[in-house]
Amino acid sequence: MQIGIIGCGQLARMLALAGWPLGLKFSFLAEPGDTGDCVLGLGNLVSMPDDFETMSAAALAEWVYFALDKPSVITVEKESVPVDLLEALKTHCAVYPDPKAVRICQNRGCEKEFIEGVGATMAPKIIVNTMEELEAAIEQLGFPVIVKTCEEGYDGLNQWKMDVAGDLVKFLASHDSIVESVVEKRVNFSREISLILVRAADGRTASYPATQNWHEGGILRASLAPAQNIDNDLAKQIEDLAERVLGNIDYVGVLAIECFVVDGKLLVNELAPRVHNSGHWTQQGAATSQFENHLRAIAGLPLGSTDVHGFAGMVNLLGVEIDAQTALKPNAFFHTYNKSVRPNRKVGHINIVHNDANSLKLQLDKTLAAIYS
Ligand code: AMP
Repeated sequence: MQIGIIGCGQLARMLALAGWPLGLKFSFLAEPGDTGDCVLGLGNLVSMPDDFETMSAAALAEWVYFALDKPSVITVEKESVPVDLLEALKTHCAVYPDPKAVRICQNRGCEKEFIEGVGATMAPKIIVNTMEELEAAIEQLGFPVIVKTCEEGYDGLNQWKMDVAGDLVKFLASHDSIVESVVEKRVNFSREISLILVRAADGRTASYPATQNWHEGGILRASLAPAQNIDNDLAKQIEDLAERVLGNIDYVGVLAIECFVVDGKLLVNELAPRVHNSGHWTQQGAATSQFENHLRAIAGLPLGSTDVHGFAGMVNLLGVEIDAQTALKPNAFFHTYNKSVRPNRKVGHINIVHNDANSLKLQLDKTLAAIYS
C-alpha cells in the first residue's frame, strides 16, 4: 500500500522506517524550504509545484495526489498544512487524520475551544487580537503569563513569558501590533505529562501509558514512561480526558495530548494530530511504536499492542552532534534524523530502556548532563 505523507521531516522519516517492515511504501511532499534530507532513500520525494500559491485547492490536490504516486492514504507529520488542500485530497483518497481534526489543532484558539467543549480543564486564558486587548487580558489574568501566537508557534517559537509589568512594557516597545494570540496564565505545574492515543478507522482505540516530560525553553528535552507516581485519582483523570477527546473528534491515527499537573489536577496544554516527540520512547520501550500504530490505524491494519516492558526514556539531541558510537550502550538506542546541526534544532534522540524506574531516571540525567553541560 502506498502512503503519502505531507511533510518530510523526522516524523515522516520515522513513520517510513516503521512502515517498511509492514510492506508499506511511502512518498513525501516537501514544502518550500524543506530539504528532504530526513527521508532520503525512504520513498519518492516531491516538491510543491512552483505556482502552487496560485492554484485552486482542487487543482493542487489533483497534482499532489498524482505526484505522490496515487496513495491509498495521505497523512500529515505536522499540523501547519493547508486544510483546504487536505479537504480537496479527500476526493482522491483517504486522508487521516480528518482535516477537521488538523484544523482544530493548528490554531490554539480553535484548540482551546475544543478542549473547553469536551469539558476538559486548561490554564485560564484569553484570546487577543490587538495590543489593547493584550494589556486588558494581562490586567484580568495577572502576572505571570505566557503569550502564544494562535498559529505558527511551536517549540517555544512565537511565545513570550511575562513575569512582571516591565516585561509587558518591553514587549509593547518592541512590537507594533500583535497577530491573534492566546494569553495564558502561567501555571505552577508539578510536572508535565503527555498522552499518546491511537484510534483505528473501525473505532478501536489504544493508549500508551502516560509519559512524563521535561522541557527547556519550550522545547522537549527528555521523557520517561510510564510516568511515575500516578495515583488513582490522576489515573482516572487521564482515562477520562482520553475518552472525552477521542469521543468528540472524528479521528484516525495517533493523537497526542500535552498536559500540566497542578495540585493533582490535569490541565490540558495542547493537542497534536500526529505522532509526537514525547512518544519516541515507544520505538524501543513498547511492543508497538507510535509510528507503527499510526500506520496501522491509517492503513486499516489491526492496532498493535501498546504494552510496555519495564521503563523507557528519551533524550532529545538538540543542536548537538553525537555519533552512534558515543551513544552506544546495551540499553541505549541512537536515532539520527540525517539533519545538519543548528542551535536547538532537533537532530536526533536517544532512547533508553531499563527494568527499574529509578535507574532509568539516573541514566537519563547522566545522559543529559553528558550532552548539555
Ligand atoms: P507549548 O508550545 O504550548 O507546548 O509550550 C511549551 C512549553 O512551555 C510547555 O511544555 C511548558 O513547559 C511551558 N508552558 C506553556 N504554557 C504554559 C503555562 N500556561 N504555564 C506554565 N508553563 C507553560
